[in-house]
Amino acid sequence: MNVFELDRQYVAPTYARFPIQIVKGKGSLVWDHQGKQYIDLGSGIAVNSLGLADNGWIQAVTAQLGAVQHTSNLYYTEPCAELAQQLCLRTGMKKVFFSNSGAEANECAIKAARKYACEKKGPDAYTIVTLNDSFHGRTLTTLAATGQSAFHQHFLPLTPGFVSCEPTAEDLRKTVAQQKTAAILFEIVRGEGGVLPLEAEFVEAMVALAREQDILLIADEVQCGNGRSGKLYSYMHYGFTPDIVTTAKGLGGGLPIGATMLGEKAEHVFTPGLNGSTFGGNPAVCAGAQYVLGQIDETLLSQVQEKADYVFQTLQGCKGIQSVTGLGLMIGVKPVKPAKQVVQACMDRGVLVLTAKDRVRLLPALNIPFPLLRQAVEILKEVCTEESV
Ligand SMILES: *Cc1c(COP(=O)(O)O)cnc(C)c1O
Repeated sequence: MNVFELDRQYVAPTYARFPIQIVKGKGSLVWDHQGKQYIDLGSGIAVNSLGLADNGWIQAVTAQLGAVQHTSNLYYTEPCAELAQQLCLRTGMKKVFFSNSGAEANECAIKAARKYACEKKGPDAYTIVTLNDSFHGRTLTTLAATGQSAFHQHFLPLTPGFVSCEPTAEDLRKTVAQQKTAAILFEIVRGEGGVLPLEAEFVEAMVALAREQDILLIADEVQCGNGRSGKLYSYMHYGFTPDIVTTAKGLGGGLPIGATMLGEKAEHVFTPGLNGSTFGGNPAVCAGAQYVLGQIDETLLSQVQEKADYVFQTLQGCKGIQSVTGLGLMIGVKPVKPAKQVVQACMDRGVLVLTAKDRVRLLPALNIPFPLLRQAVEILKEVCTEESV
């Protein structure tokens, strides 16, 4: 059996895969089993921040693999401690809990917020308010947090204590008033929901309301964090600091990691035994993440912004494109044609792009060379502009 047949026979069919097998990659180029080359504008859904097979990242991970690839969380390791330090120094957060995925990072944030609120306001202050069209993960609790009922079907009952609202000051105020609220959980740019950045006005109202009622603000930066928006974390565009920041995807540069960063208010909620993870803080993964974080400096961030400006300017107002949304190199393009058709046509012409609802979603590696980006965006533009056959 070939890979396609094997996969179809033995892998649980939870994904609608494209009929290509990726066999190698370098930077922002990948090759399939037939030797066809693609420019990668998806980077493994915002995971390969530095592209594929980045030399520095490989060096950082393999050096640690050769020393200690894993120890339990009963002992100390340097990469884990140093990564936590770097994250705190660059965000103003105080403590970090490491896990393996975005969903787990959010689970930890929810636990932290509930414990904080229980101690401050009593045991009935457990509700977490989230936003419509959000995405926070696939576990039963993070599904409950996800404000898209399509994801909930078949799995009821979900964890209680979640309500979602529209990202408007009015709806948020109304929703928060309906029960004792522990936290508001939000993506600065809703990724799966359509690449939709929050309005500055809404964020301002949300922050004011949260401060007034001691409601924790949890920024889910799983997708929009780690340099993708043009700043290290996307809340930094809005002039406030959340109480808890969660991240995953791009932080590891290709290996699984989740991080829940706790600010001043939540810094002391956890004591030994209250949360844990066998693999969380794995030294090889953390060594790679330290390298990734080190690369996301002012120079790289300004290049991200420049590249983003180029993409927006090139695609906005084009024939065949209704709108372009996003922040930094997290971009949603709404074509006149069905997004799926655009993805397929791009793939045929050697460009890998993603979708988010009715949009084509671009999440290139942060260090994608400008000429490759230009070439890929021209192809996308052509595909969107051409009359369909
Ligand atoms: C992908 C994603 C998650 C879930 O991350 P996993 O690593 O798949 O568990 C959570 N929140 C956001 C915003 C995401 O984009």
